[in-house]
Amino acid sequence: TSRATPDLAAFADRIRSGDRASLARAITFAESRRADHQAFARALVQELLPHTGKAIRVGVTGVPGVGKSTTIDTLGSRLTAAGHKVAVLAVDPSSTRTGGSILGDKTRMQRLAMDRRAYVRPSPSAGTLGGVAAKTRESMLLAEAAGFDVILVETVGIGQSETTVSDMTDVFLVLMLPGAGDELQGIKKGVLEIADIIAVNKADGDGAPRAKAAAAEYAGALRILSGQGGAWTPEVLTVSGLADQGLDRLWTRVEACRDARAKAGELARRRAGQQVRWMWTMVEARFRERLADDPRLAERVPALERDVAAGGLAPTVAADEIARVLGF
Ligand code: GDP
Repeated sequence: TSRATPDLAAFADRIRSGDRASLARAITFAESRRADHQAFARALVQELLPHTGKAIRVGVTGVPGVGKSTTIDTLGSRLTAAGHKVAVLAVDPSSTRTGGSILGDKTRMQRLAMDRRAYVRPSPSAGTLGGVAAKTRESMLLAEAAGFDVILVETVGIGQSETTVSDMTDVFLVLMLPGAGDELQGIKKGVLEIADIIAVNKADGDGAPRAKAAAAEYAGALRILSGQGGAWTPEVLTVSGLADQGLDRLWTRVEACRDARAKAGELARRRAGQQVRWMWTMVEARFRERLADDPRLAERVPALERDVAAGGLAPTVAADEIARVLGF
């Protein structure tokens, strides 16, 4: 939208050169509630857009305690050692609700936090899930422009956060606990439907046989769900993030998923769809903000809500009235 001011261009150049402080500042602008900061972040993303999109984007989910941070720390360290630059971002709606973030603590990833080839950023904490996700999307593009070629987006499966993260990534990885049958009942069915790879973690020591059994269960569950078509058939494997077992294989399969989709043209379509949906999400957010402080509505809404709540006014009729007040 905006033309590059010299400032903006210089800032963009510093990000492109891989300057971490500038990347961190840019993300802080994107996460800010201030309209001028947000506008600057938007302009920056637009400026850097030609330099985005080259990373592999991987969503990682799993219940608290499954070993997300341990596994990301080990896997990420392997990847940086192999020459990659790894950014770890998070979408954690709980940080908004409770003021305390499940994924916010950087020190959970001790090695990556000290790794010059890694960038670990806690979840933005302002707004709804949609708002948090929008900021993480911008952070992802900024990190890509800064030369990060692996983006890991972590989320705890709260509400719709897995779906949201799967809609900003190329490959969706679900970590599971060993524990066979009963585990299956505890997980949300929706998660299995969007999983590209299920990794049963803690497959070490005494846990190894149970992890194998759980993997077989999940493989069976996936087979029942199968028929989604597409270039990739979901897979199950076992890993140990703590003992660093199976992570090479895991990464090989993550890349295989991305490659299969790319070869079939699905990756480009997936990303294109994600971009367009992101646009409409932002439009809806704008409309909602406008609605919230529209003086015309402020007068009418309390009475309408009261009548709808009391059961005397059909919601559809009230919605029609609101649209009329707004001049739709
Ligand atoms: P998160 O909440 O999903 O990020 O889980 P954490 O990475 O914080 O791990 C939770 C607990 O499980 C910690 O005590 C870890 O040491 C332990 N843990 C994580 N990965 C493994 C693993 O592969 N094997 C075993 N035995 N323990 C693990």
